[in-house]
Amino acid sequence: MRRRVFSASLKLLSEEWIRVGDKRLCVRYVRNPRAKRLIVRLQPDLSARVTVPRGLSVREARAFLEKHASWLKTRLRERERLRADRLGVGDQILLRGRPVTIEPDPERPGWIRFGDQRVRVEDGSGGLAKLVRERLFALAVEELPARALAYARVHGFRPAGVRVGNPRTRWGSCSSKGRVNLNWRLIQAPPFARDYVILHELVHLEHPNHSAEFWARLRTLCPGCEIARRWLSLHGPELMHAW
Ligand SMILES: [Zn+2]
Repeated sequence: MRRRVFSASLKLLSEEWIRVGDKRLCVRYVRNPRAKRLIVRLQPDLSARVTVPRGLSVREARAFLEKHASWLKTRLRERERLRADRLGVGDQILLRGRPVTIEPDPERPGWIRFGDQRVRVEDGSGGLAKLVRERLFALAVEELPARALAYARVHGFRPAGVRVGNPRTRWGSCSSKGRVNLNWRLIQAPPFARDYVILHELVHLEHPNHSAEFWARLRTLCPGCEIARRWLSLHGPELMHAW
């Protein structure tokens, strides 16, 4: 399944992840026989589309992209700044996988709410985006480790600890000392995707690799893990870049 419906003349040649600065960027190479030259465009979901004209290979397009990596980095940073500054009342964000609108709290002047969350907006508190992000982070700290520990109990895992962090490129990790780290942005993902990441990291306590045994074990605990992986690969880049 592909994220966008390409017009009939466009053909997806390759989909790859590249590193741009401290971020990962999804790049889709598409063939457009009518294109006269190579075109690189950042998409609204912060993936990149490289339109490859007839007669040029993906390898050549990739080399072009590598040469213009700093251009891409600048564009990405601009786009991020715009989004962060623009977040305001009336905008929608994801909370536990559901779109919720940021709106004034009718019961408390000077407060905003989104979903079941309320945040006080004071003068000089540094913009709405910062406040919303802080609230989401706090919520992640409240909910994610508790969820992970509950799963650990049920399935007999013994993590040395569960922490919430702010990595830019990973949903979770499991250290060699048995510490599970979870990305705070998982609070925005739907429960099935959040649980997949939690179970994935817990299974690493038994299999510190991505061997066939690892996946087999994970699949018994998380039968819907392919759907979760797909959700994360489709919507993850946007969540990773949004904050
Ligand atoms: Zn893994």
